[in-house]
Amino acid sequence: MTRFESVAEAIGGTPLIRLVKTGLRPRIYVKPEWYNPGGSVKDRAALSMLRRAEADGSLRPGGTVVETTSGNTGIGLALYAAHLGYRSVIFTSSSISKEKRDLLVAHGAELRLVDAFVPKTHPDSLKSVADRFVAETPGAWLANQYDNPGNPAAHYVSTGPEIWADTSGEVTHFVATVGTGGTISGTGRYLKEVSGGSVRVIGADPATSSYSGGDGSQKFIEGAGHFVHPLAEEDVWPESLDLSVIDEYSAVDDAEAIATIRSLARTEGILAGGSAGVALAAALRLAEGLTESDTVVVLLPDSGRAYLSTYYNDDWLLANGFRTEAGSVVGDLASE
Ligand code: PMP
Repeated sequence: MTRFESVAEAIGGTPLIRLVKTGLRPRIYVKPEWYNPGGSVKDRAALSMLRRAEADGSLRPGGTVVETTSGNTGIGLALYAAHLGYRSVIFTSSSISKEKRDLLVAHGAELRLVDAFVPKTHPDSLKSVADRFVAETPGAWLANQYDNPGNPAAHYVSTGPEIWADTSGEVTHFVATVGTGGTISGTGRYLKEVSGGSVRVIGADPATSSYSGGDGSQKFIEGAGHFVHPLAEEDVWPESLDLSVIDEYSAVDDAEAIATIRSLARTEGILAGGSAGVALAAALRLAEGLTESDTVVVLLPDSGRAYLSTYYNDDWLLANGFRTEAGSVVGDLASE
């Protein structure tokens, strides 16, 4: 489909693009999710959560869409809230990049900056401040992507079926990062069901993320992984994540993820974001042990355009402890 009667209809249907320069035996296809109107995979979840809230009456005409995020979900929610005629209020930390702030404002979102660096349960945390706002504001609805079943459901009904149809059922391995877990849980569950359990689902994870056994300290890659506030009493994983779908995790450090996307841009001509680098690095490692009869699909959540001043910038890399040689990242000083 290339003709749509509204922006909401233009979500999904992202292509599969085969990588032709890897020299590896299996077919490797990437699924660039920046082909969605809001520029990321989170458009799917944003519209799905909004539509469900409308259907169950928790979001009514004149209502306010609320979320705590500095990232792609906020942009998707702001975009579709504008399209559907709702006010949107996004609670976020003041460390959010100027580009992201400007994108939210461009779609008419009201930004509420919350500075406190405290665990979620603290009364000054982003979550607590947003919860109070929702309780005090008539017609306000909190999307809460981490625990909202509309998030994985979006991928069960769209991302999974697209991959199955576009590979004519040949997909053998699906690789994705895990943030809220919506993407991997919904897509993975569909692919497992439709293939009778034969598709293997690999959770690509930043090396310090607690999903794959890291210590939960956050490094640079945004969107992927699960990180724990140093003062948090417990590490609570999202309800959007269905652990039974993930066959194995593959941990990737930031230097490898960044080196992978920089190489992708220069060899294949595909400009992807940092979490895409985590997924692709895991997929390339996996593919080394596979054969010509395998087809690997790797989901790339967003584009490299949002990271030109970071991962694609040599000065930023050096200032942040990465070692570079001839424009390539060759290591992470912190891990050496
Ligand atoms: N990468 C990026 C850049 C993201 O914004 C997100 C969403 N948090 C993810 C990966 C992970 O997607 P999900 O929340 O569906 O697990």
